[in-house]
Amino acid sequence: MISSHVPLLGFAAYSGTGKTTLLEALLPKLTQTGLRIGVLKHAHHDFDIDQPGKDSYRLRHAGASQMLIASRLRYAKITETPESEPEFEQLIAQFNQEELDLILVEGCKNIAFAKIELHREPTGKPWLYPNDAQIIAVAADTPCDAKLPQLDINDIDAIAAFVLNYVKGFHHPHRHEGKKEGASCDSFAHPNTLSVDEAKQRILSALQPLTDRETVDLKDAGKRILSDNVTSTMNVPAFRNSAMDGYAIAYDDLPSQRWQIVGQVLAGHAFSSAIQSGQAVKIMTGAPLPADVDTVIMREEAQEQDGYVSFPQAHITKGQNVRHPGEDLAIGQTVFTTGQPIHAPEQGMLASLGVNRVSVYRRLKVAIFSTGDEVFEPGEDVSDAGLYDANRYSLRGLLQHQNCEVLDMGILPDDPEIIRQALEEMSGNADLILTSGGVSVGDADYVKQVMQSLGHIELWKINMRPGRPLAFGAIHHTPIFGLPGNPVAAMVSFIQFVQPAIARMQGDNDWQPLSIMAMAEEDLRSKQGRTEFTRGIYQINEHGQLTVKTTGHQGSALLHSMSQANCLIEIGPHIDRIKSGESVTIIPLQGRI
Ligand code: AMP
Ligand code: MG
Repeated sequence: MISSHVPLLGFAAYSGTGKTTLLEALLPKLTQTGLRIGVLKHAHHDFDIDQPGKDSYRLRHAGASQMLIASRLRYAKITETPESEPEFEQLIAQFNQEELDLILVEGCKNIAFAKIELHREPTGKPWLYPNDAQIIAVAADTPCDAKLPQLDINDIDAIAAFVLNYVKGFHHPHRHEGKKEGASCDSFAHPNTLSVDEAKQRILSALQPLTDRETVDLKDAGKRILSDNVTSTMNVPAFRNSAMDGYAIAYDDLPSQRWQIVGQVLAGHAFSSAIQSGQAVKIMTGAPLPADVDTVIMREEAQEQDGYVSFPQAHITKGQNVRHPGEDLAIGQTVFTTGQPIHAPEQGMLASLGVNRVSVYRRLKVAIFSTGDEVFEPGEDVSDAGLYDANRYSLRGLLQHQNCEVLDMGILPDDPEIIRQALEEMSGNADLILTSGGVSVGDADYVKQVMQSLGHIELWKINMRPGRPLAFGAIHHTPIFGLPGNPVAAMVSFIQFVQPAIARMQGDNDWQPLSIMAMAEEDLRSKQGRTEFTRGIYQINEHGQLTVKTTGHQGSALLHSMSQANCLIEIGPHIDRIKSGESVTIIPLQGRI
């Protein structure tokens, strides 16, 4: 739910219902009582508030991306947002809330904040309230089934009275609790229901990075995390050399029309004889530049004849095509800092510095368990009421992606004593424990019970789908995640919570999940207050736009959708509807699963 210090009230309706006319009639009734009111009006089209010929118009079209025009009586700021439509919260933040008692919003009907629905029967449009829990009253020309206050849309006084009452009853939910802005409403109602962001923050703040280090061969250092800064012990390049295949001359010789070729320098070989005025050497890329020359002309610009070379067409500048010692990296310069993950560029870079052993954090040991009497090992016989273990295999793959050492502890039956022993033992061997299944509210969900008895565990209902139940805590200081049993929910929860947790424990401080905006190719829905992760497929369409569609059926037991997807479509808690053509956040899965 959107938060704001002043009450926020919307008027939601289909176009043609007369929202603006109603607001126009309503505003004087409200301001009469002394209320100071701000209005946010959402326009679907490319509106323009200043017209050709006006100074502000001319300046804006000349390139001002923010245009502020001010006089004694008013000012207006026009901000161009060509990249993407501003977030609702960003727009609300434009108001000076200190000077307002109420913000009325016309439009933005798919954003989560309190609204009055306006409805007129002749428009033939459907009601909004059955699908929008944020509608707090209905103003219409006909009665409906809503269990909400019903107002007459033509009775402006009654609507004004309702609005005044709403303002009076409004309390600032976050001010006196000292909470951060932006927390979801749900989390105030149920202490164990968290938003995705709150859960992630709590998890990350409870974890400590590993401190044990080891030295490994550079060849084996891929995906490891540096545990020390690396400073250069040499200049790169180490000596002055040619950046081209060509001819090296002394620039001050330039009045010459042609040069006698007195030798050739290949990469890896030095040329130590003197070069006189009027002489040149043939030189290859990377070969050391002899002392008497300073400029290289590329072979394509040279004409060679009878042991002489000339450069009839070349525009030569002093020192061209020469690489200097330390140009890429100077001795003593910091190349990488602690916490740097080592991938292909870092491996190449370290090698270029002559480094063959690196100091890294040790790999994280992660123990994985599946739980459930119904869960069987692939390759074995499965009972009539059983199914094969998917989770340990997808978790193993995910952990290998992050270069963890996997301690595969197999499948545990729904037996609290066996689960207790296994978790207790693993807390001494692993840096992190992951289980799947047994954390919801079923009769055989013993995992959370055992976790609670052994250590400090919080079971959260996370306001997300899939992946609502999540247990997180520690047994004897070893962090443990009780992931949901459902295979898709287990993977999505892993991606959201375990991946950042592992990055933090591995000492990778800069790890950030990538999320980008794409244009929805179909209508998307999500319950307000909940974060929905839909499996999606993004692509670039023929206009070069990034677009995304869902993989279709989203049953959370079907791992197939995870395999078809190349991204998760994230619909945040403040949004309940994305229409085809609107932009939506996607989390690319490439490099993550
Ligand atoms: P639970 O939370 O234990 O009730 O599990 C939720 C659902 O996920 C049930 O239908 C389980 O059968 C299923 N499930 C649990 N663990 C696994 C697993 N390792 N592989 C595949 N499905 C599982
Ligand atoms: Mg189970």
